Amino acid sequence: MDYIEKKKEVETKLKDILSERRYMHTVGVVDTASEMAEIYGYDADKAKLAAVLHDLAKDYSSVAQLRKCKEAGIELSAVEEANTELIHAKLGAVLAKTEYGIDDDEICEAIKWHTTGKPDMKLLEKIIFVADYIEPGRDKAPNLDAIRKIARKDIDDAVYYIMRDTLYYLYMTQPYAVDEMTKKAFEYYKAIFKTKHDKEEI
Ligand code: FE
Ligand code: FE
Repeated sequence: MDYIEKKKEVETKLKDILSERRYMHTVGVVDTASEMAEIYGYDADKAKLAAVLHDLAKDYSSVAQLRKCKEAGIELSAVEEANTELIHAKLGAVLAKTEYGIDDDEICEAIKWHTTGKPDMKLLEKIIFVADYIEPGRDKAPNLDAIRKIARKDIDDAVYYIMRDTLYYLYMTQPYAVDEMTKKAFEYYKAIFKTKHDKEEI
C-alpha cells in the first residue's frame, strides 16, 4: 500500500465526515504521530495514515455507532454499551478495512486500541495512543507538559502516565465507564515503570 497516496484519499473523505473540531484534532495527531515515528524509528508515512484514520467513527451519533457495530458483527461489552465514547475505536478499526480499504492489520489494531490501550502494545499502537493524548490541541488533562516531554524520551513511561491519569480521572468522574482492558494495560505498564525507575513519579 502507498501510505502517502492512501492518506490523501482518506483525508478527502474524512473532511466531509468529521466535524471541524475533530478534524483539527486529527491533524494534531497526524503531526505528533509523525514526530514520534521519527524519534522511535517507525515508518512516519504509515504512522500518519493510522493517525488520520484513528477517529474516523467518532462523529457518528451513538445510535449510528451502535447500529454500525451490529451490522459489522462487533460484540460490545456492557461497559462499552453504557459508554459509547469507547466504541468508536473498535468500530473505526473495522470500518478502516471495509470502508477505507485498509488491509494492514497493524494500522487497524492501532485504531482499535487508541482509546483504552492494552497490555504489551506494538510500537504503532503506542504512537497513536500517546499522540492522541498529547497532540498540541489538547489542553485539559493534568501533567500534559510533562507527559509531552516524556513522550519524546521514553514512550513506555508516557503510556504509563497517560493510563494513570486517565484512570484517575475516570474513577473520579464516571467509575462505571472504566474499561477492563485499560485496567489490565495500566497494571502492565506500571510493572514496567516500577522495574525501571525507583525514583518519584511526576
Ligand atoms: Fe478517539
Ligand atoms: Fe482522537
